[in-house]
Amino acid sequence: MDILKIPAISEFCRTAELIHSRGWAERNGGNISLLLDEDLGSLAPIRKLPVGCPGGLEGRYIAITGSGKYLRNVPRDPESNMGIFRICRDGVELLWGLKDGSGPSSELAAHLNCHSVRLNVDPAHRAVIHTHATNLVAMTFVHPLNDRDFTRTLWSLLTECIMFLPDGVAVLPWMPCGTEETGRATAEKMKESRIVVWAHHGVFSSGTSAEDALGLIEVAEKAAEIFLKISHLPILSKIDDSRLLDICKVMNIVPRNGYLSIPESPE
Ligand SMILES: [Zn+2]
Repeated sequence: MDILKIPAISEFCRTAELIHSRGWAERNGGNISLLLDEDLGSLAPIRKLPVGCPGGLEGRYIAITGSGKYLRNVPRDPESNMGIFRICRDGVELLWGLKDGSGPSSELAAHLNCHSVRLNVDPAHRAVIHTHATNLVAMTFVHPLNDRDFTRTLWSLLTECIMFLPDGVAVLPWMPCGTEETGRATAEKMKESRIVVWAHHGVFSSGTSAEDALGLIEVAEKAAEIFLKISHLPILSKIDDSRLLDICKVMNIVPRNGYLSIPESPE
């Protein structure tokens, strides 16, 4: 089987290039993982890593960036910078890639946990992306770090934000990266929200494709950029809750429960 001809490989490479071109993956920052639809059962394991396997993933195949690899280098040499693994009950088996002997991204636990919870919500789920989106990270230094307030601010700054992020944007306080605890905390937030901001670090996003997951980051990042451009200026006009409710009505969207003030109906 020619692995490089699997459609997910070109999807993976294109996404790595896009993230890098936006300046959201300095040095080896950022990582991508995609669940594969192909049956790779004919490939023999190259080596195995013991890791915990969250529910629902056993027997699935996952493509993920390698530890310490630069996203900018993935399209030029996928076989050195990413790997394809079979997910087993007690670990992951490398089937292809990472030919220099390196391991998967240090955020593997976060990726596996996020895939597990999102598959429970949406069987079509496939992609998890982590990037250092500049304006979202900057916003975490100057904005309260709770899900509702953070989401409401983003919704109020870009008309389409509530359309694409009706479940809101979750926020985690600063935590050390690369730990199982951070991975579990991210996945816990992803039960309700497809996108989770890591304060002072970056953002995790999920979707049915890499493009879908990256698109969510682009929307939140644009709203965060607007926040940083205008938050110190006098606000003369805004997208208030009644306007946000109008958008939901027109677009047939159900916003996250309790995030908008619903006007009391007249007696
Ligand atoms: Zn990071």
